[in-house]
Amino acid sequence: MVKLCGICENERAILKRPKTAQQICKTCFYHVFETEIHHTIIDNNLFKRGDRVAIAASGGKDSTVLAHIMKTLNERHNYGLDLSLLSVDEGITGYRDDSLETVKRNQQQYELPLKIVSYQELYNWSMDDIVKEVGLKNNCTFCGVFRRQALDRGAVMLGVDHIVTGHNADDIAETVLMNILRGDVARLQRCTEIVTAGESMIRRSKPFKYTYEKEIVMYAYFKKLDYFSTECIYSPNAYRGHARIFLKDLEAVRPSAIIGKQFP
Ligand code: SF4
Repeated sequence: MVKLCGICENERAILKRPKTAQQICKTCFYHVFETEIHHTIIDNNLFKRGDRVAIAASGGKDSTVLAHIMKTLNERHNYGLDLSLLSVDEGITGYRDDSLETVKRNQQQYELPLKIVSYQELYNWSMDDIVKEVGLKNNCTFCGVFRRQALDRGAVMLGVDHIVTGHNADDIAETVLMNILRGDVARLQRCTEIVTAGESMIRRSKPFKYTYEKEIVMYAYFKKLDYFSTECIYSPNAYRGHARIFLKDLEAVRPSAIIGKQFP
């Protein structure tokens, strides 16, 4: 028997929402996915009209969906934002050079200006140089700090007020776990904030704070978005990987573990 969509009760249900376990059609999935992010933006006053906003773009699924959603919602709801793409080239051969090609295609597809800042240009070294020196050890801890700073410096060059990143609910849950395991109480609170300000006072926000990673993947898949799916070659030993595996195990037992909230 054909199962009808649990929202419109008209179309055939073709997917089960990971966030709510509701079986729905593709059209209703697009609608709820986009509307929930719109509400996150509005309820948290993320932007004001006229803001110049850089979308941190890596070419991966999260930032590609973020670019697509920010452009769609900005036009649909007339936010009045001046959007651009901002990418960091860490200098990782066989990974970032390929993913930046995806960002360049996204720039054409979404008709947004693009600025790329590189570690080579900012610091006079690349991650390839660093890994050659120190080997495959704690690379993300080091790279992450410089990546954050590079985004800030790129934002200053672009003259933007605000950076949006594609951090989703799963990323935040992983960070919470990592901070608990490290006993880092100060970061534990900060890591769940939807808006933060770096040293440069440029606001950073996470419109996907309440969005499940699986739904981002589904959205990218059904919309046939152009994204790069290879993992960074220096990430396999990252501490985050252990938190991710643990979280996936918890999620298999209780799907609401990621946000810790029961949905109807
Ligand atoms: Fe840098 Fe780690 Fe990200 Fe690779 S995965 S770009 S090493 S922070």
